Amino acid sequence: MLISAERLRDFAADIFTAAGTSREEGARVARYLVEANLTGHDSHGVVRVPRYVQWLKSGFIVAGVTPEVERETPITAVVDGKYGFGQTVTPIAVKLGIEKAKASGLAAVALKNSAHLGRVGDWGEMAAAEGLVAIHYVNVQGSLLVAPFGGVDRRLSTAPHCIALPLPNRPPVVLDFATSYVAEGKVLVASRGGKKIPDDALIRPDGSVSGDPAVLYGPLASSDRTPENGEGAIRAFGLHKGSGLAFMCEMLGGALTGNGTCGPREHGRGRITNGMLSFYLRPDMIDEPAAFVARAERYIAFYKSSRPAEPGGEVLIPGEMEARNRAERAAKGIPLPDETWASIVACAEAVGLESARIPAAA
Ligand code: NAD
Repeated sequence: MLISAERLRDFAADIFTAAGTSREEGARVARYLVEANLTGHDSHGVVRVPRYVQWLKSGFIVAGVTPEVERETPITAVVDGKYGFGQTVTPIAVKLGIEKAKASGLAAVALKNSAHLGRVGDWGEMAAAEGLVAIHYVNVQGSLLVAPFGGVDRRLSTAPHCIALPLPNRPPVVLDFATSYVAEGKVLVASRGGKKIPDDALIRPDGSVSGDPAVLYGPLASSDRTPENGEGAIRAFGLHKGSGLAFMCEMLGGALTGNGTCGPREHGRGRITNGMLSFYLRPDMIDEPAAFVARAERYIAFYKSSRPAEPGGEVLIPGEMEARNRAERAAKGIPLPDETWASIVACAEAVGLESARIPAAA
């Protein structure tokens, strides 16, 4: 299935609205999910629609939430997302951080109790577009998926980390990744017939490694993809260093923000929440922005001038892959595996969307 971003946005917005959100909120959630597909991160795109709808129906996500600023100083804030859609509460927390950093030069904002906030790169890009450096440490309370370096039991979430730089005249320079070897959504996409994951991305209880999504989800015959059904775990990336960064995301995004760490469970079975500790910095607090940009651009050219490791290869900087995917998918459409499409259509039917509003498979 190849579908334009615009049609996919409308379809996902229709589903969320039929499931009980306002049109405005449904359209916002849909826009961020499709943005993930446009950047090539299908793991955080519309494959999530059925799961979000399920969470909405079970009350794990609350529609129409206004987040509460619990504590505030000129340079810090603690924002309680009150289980609202991450796509609703996170932009409000990020905007607060942007305003504070613009006024004072530096700001730290803790967000807790947000439902899944999607691709963290969206939030780094939002700050960079306002001329700020942004650093985010994120955890996923209640989502035990990843084995730490040296262990086989799940003790970490996929705890993403993101750093964004404001360099004008080029696409967003954003490093944004899960600290797990692969994001859980990539295992989900693979389990639904999409791109395979590396054959050592998962670990079984006996310590052997695997690329079979059944290690995480249990038998794939059913359409259910509940990580609790699998016996194994995703491995942390980068050996002890990645595992250590994930640990710090749990500490900063989970323990410090008040969101709670990935385990032991604090908010009741089934409810997952993202916590995010973010720092925003105005580059002119350190040096003339033009001097920073000139040095950065000179270094980017030097970095990319490395001879490729493989014939025809190329060295990319953070964010470059996403910019290329965006350009290609905006022009040609977004490819979706048949199983992903079928699960979204089934979700649309289950929430009672009229068949005339369901795009026909190409
Ligand atoms: P990934 O492994 O695709 O890595 C992405 C990063 O690597 C980007 O910064 C990208 O620019 C860079 N990159 C990609 N290919 C490159 C290349 N060839 N050369 C140089 N740099 C390259 O990402 P991931 O770990 O699968 O994470 C996917 C998304 O999942 C992220 O957006 C992350 O924020 C999101 N995520 C969210 C949650 C959550 O709870 N909300 C949890 C985990 C992950």
